[in-house]
Amino acid sequence: MMNDTFTLYNLRVEVIETDKPMVCGHNAGDYFLVIGEDIIFPENNSFSMYALSSILPLLPAKQRMLHPNDWMLSDSVIACPDPNCGAVFKITRIDTKEFSHSECTVEPIHKGEG
Ligand SMILES: [Zn+2]
Repeated sequence: MMNDTFTLYNLRVEVIETDKPMVCGHNAGDYFLVIGEDIIFPENNSFSMYALSSILPLLPAKQRMLHPNDWMLSDSVIACPDPNCGAVFKITRIDTKEFSHSECTVEPIHKGEG
């Protein structure tokens, strides 16, 4: 049987306080995890849906191996979408996990471009 595994980074996204006050309901240290396609919130932890919407587009890229010059590799701090709020959200790669292509999709593995 063909090896169809690939590796993704598991992520931790954490609320970080700055010098500017937080005006939303964020609490410094609140976080969620990203493992594969799952977002995992700890118990007794909430997260602003507006902040989440600003973070979501970056998560699939941060899960993957990137070119060393890619800005998505170097940039890991996202500002709150409320311009009056001082909270930022730090994305950290915590470890990796192996996945099987055939367990993620029914599409065949395509070795070419596009
Ligand atoms: Zn905010």
